Amino acid sequence: MFKRSPLVMVPGPTPVARSIQDQLGRETISFNDPRFVKDSQALVNDLRDMWRCDGIAFVVAGSGTMAMEMGISNISSKSDRVLVCSNGHFGDRYIDICSRKGFEMETLKAKWGRSVTVEEIDRKLSEKKFDILVATHVETSTAVELPLRELCNMMREKYPDTLVVIDGVASAGGVEFAMDWGIDIMLTCSQKCFGISPGLGIVWASQRAIEKRQSMPPLTESYVDFEKWIPVMKDTMKYWGTPAVNMVWSLMEAVRIIKEEGLGERYARHRLHAKGMRSALEDLGFKMGAEEGFTCPTLTVVLYPDGFCADDAKFRDTVYDEGAHVAGCLGEFAGKGFRVGHMGNVDAHILVSTVAAIERACMRCGWKIEPGRALGVLQKHLVSGA
Ligand SMILES: *Cc1c(COP(=O)(O)O)cnc(C)c1O
Repeated sequence: MFKRSPLVMVPGPTPVARSIQDQLGRETISFNDPRFVKDSQALVNDLRDMWRCDGIAFVVAGSGTMAMEMGISNISSKSDRVLVCSNGHFGDRYIDICSRKGFEMETLKAKWGRSVTVEEIDRKLSEKKFDILVATHVETSTAVELPLRELCNMMREKYPDTLVVIDGVASAGGVEFAMDWGIDIMLTCSQKCFGISPGLGIVWASQRAIEKRQSMPPLTESYVDFEKWIPVMKDTMKYWGTPAVNMVWSLMEAVRIIKEEGLGERYARHRLHAKGMRSALEDLGFKMGAEEGFTCPTLTVVLYPDGFCADDAKFRDTVYDEGAHVAGCLGEFAGKGFRVGHMGNVDAHILVSTVAAIERACMRCGWKIEPGRALGVLQKHLVSGA
């Protein structure tokens, strides 16, 4: 039977728009060709200004994990005390990255399906002084959203000297944030809410973060050192590591699409889509991995209901066979459910096809559902806009 390639509905990579993909097919030119120098300079300036950063937006080849490492390495030294908050698998990854750095570290961990709260962070910071706070905006293993705005307000009011580092890999470009909320490091990568192929990391650093780096001795790392990249981001004619020319063009096109949609519209769309996806999957009988009040706008994590008729791998294989690639769960949720990404350049067609594929998989696996009902639930959200 003829079949199109399945929709990429894992939480990264996300569907890549044709015009973004086309940038990868362009003839590659040198990083110091004036045409590329001009493009990449405009891009880093755009990234800085759109997210109201008073410092620098770094665009560096690598994955999100590289951006996490770059973010913390440049503002921490052995004499710092760092509080790392984890809401799940990727928060734990930041704990692992930080635990190698030799500074004094403490952790706050949320129960799976919940976020560390602003009150808990406040309590911890009131006990002793921390130089740096690290947290995850959207935790991709549980689909939990950190109340970032509220956290930033609290930090500014009570702990203005503590630097704030946010893993925004599954949020930046899809969920509200601005550096002038009081964020010092925010980071993401190309294959999540920007909707590009994997390969680029983006790290926003506040002026305060840049100053901290400049007050520190040389890093043990070289590739990710801000000091090496600052001259390049200020003047893209300069060289440190060869920029991923075609990927940078892809990012430029992704930013053009974001501007065309409008940031506010884009954030509202992600929240609407998430609501529709959650309602549809709940209608099929699945349970949310994230508890009420914690659900995020960029992906949905669901757990199988009691008595669900298929095993995890078989069910996801069937969804794949029906035309949508969804992801398995991680950590405490592994084997108990699946994850659907709906971040980046996703529209109603993609969402409808995904829910339809999940419905067909349910039917094929013998789960008693009424065909089209969950789809109807999604459709109502998409049309009513609420
Ligand atoms: C995907 C993801 C990462 C890791 O990014 P890679 O590109 O796979 O290295 C880190 N944090 C969060 C929140 C993520 O969603």
